[in-house]
Amino acid sequence: MRLATFDGHNDVLSRLLGSPGDPVRRFLQGDGTGHVDMPRAEAGGLAGGCFAVFACDPFRGAPDGFAVDYGEPADAVQARAEALAQVALLLRIERAAAGRLRIARCAADLDGPGVAAVLHLEGAEPIDEGLDALEVLHAAGLRSLGLAWSRPNAFATGVPFGFPGSPDQGDGLTAAGRALVRACGERGILVDLSHLNERGFWDVAGMHAAPLVASHSGAHAVCPSPRNLTDAQLRAIGASGGIAGIPFHVGFLRPDGRDDPDTPLAAIAAHAAHVAEVAGAETVALGSDFDGATMPRELADVAALPAAHAALAAQGFSSAELEGIAHGNWRRVLEATWTA
Ligand code: ZN
Repeated sequence: MRLATFDGHNDVLSRLLGSPGDPVRRFLQGDGTGHVDMPRAEAGGLAGGCFAVFACDPFRGAPDGFAVDYGEPADAVQARAEALAQVALLLRIERAAAGRLRIARCAADLDGPGVAAVLHLEGAEPIDEGLDALEVLHAAGLRSLGLAWSRPNAFATGVPFGFPGSPDQGDGLTAAGRALVRACGERGILVDLSHLNERGFWDVAGMHAAPLVASHSGAHAVCPSPRNLTDAQLRAIGASGGIAGIPFHVGFLRPDGRDDPDTPLAAIAAHAAHVAEVAGAETVALGSDFDGATMPRELADVAALPAAHAALAAQGFSSAELEGIAHGNWRRVLEATWTA
């Protein structure tokens, strides 16, 4: 089963910059490492996806990475420099891709041949409170922004990873966070609620007119990670016409939260079924977290996307629902957000 897929989250840009060699060539020719490159994206039927600029975890990859105190904010100057490097990389890939990949700046860019790459900022650390960086990044193609990664910053507080746990940890948006949400609304930039804590989620829900979107979060009722969404949050997302992108990260899928690649793809379908039951099948989407997390063994990289579709079909979703989950629901939400 090979459906055109829009995948709500990958971390290929930070992966490419974190290892040696020309990152543009490695992406376009395929380097066979990690989860995403151009040949494997084409093999898997990837029609589009959110390409994350992730610049608020300066300790990632360090031997003591897991000992970092994520209760402390990241350094904004370092985050801005790292973000600039990742945005520049996607621009260079687009220039060298000869039409195989384009940065999607409007809804029409989501259609047609090649991969439509949505430039997404995962964690607003690179944004200054005067919003100069937001203006520049928007001009460069930024169309999606997550207020916080899993730590606090000047705008909001992200949920930590401790399992099991509630997403209701920490305070809501700061005044700067509210101003940033308003600025995103004015520019048609999608506000991504994944990683945000529950008070921040409800703050955005109360002030933001666009559909509510969590790009890579599952159902808390199935896997009680603080990174997943409660039924109340899912209902609010559904009522707004938004989506939850089911992640493929095993730690957010498994009821026991273990980081175990021997996780059946039925776990993805179980989250999709729960979201559909609570909020409707039009609320279900995909948000793999390729190149940023541990994948199930049967979904080793983006070329294996058809295996995810097969698992959803086995769950009983109709072909129309499957097309929505694979692509149409993301397409609908991006168009509504960008043209509002
Ligand atoms: Zn993430």
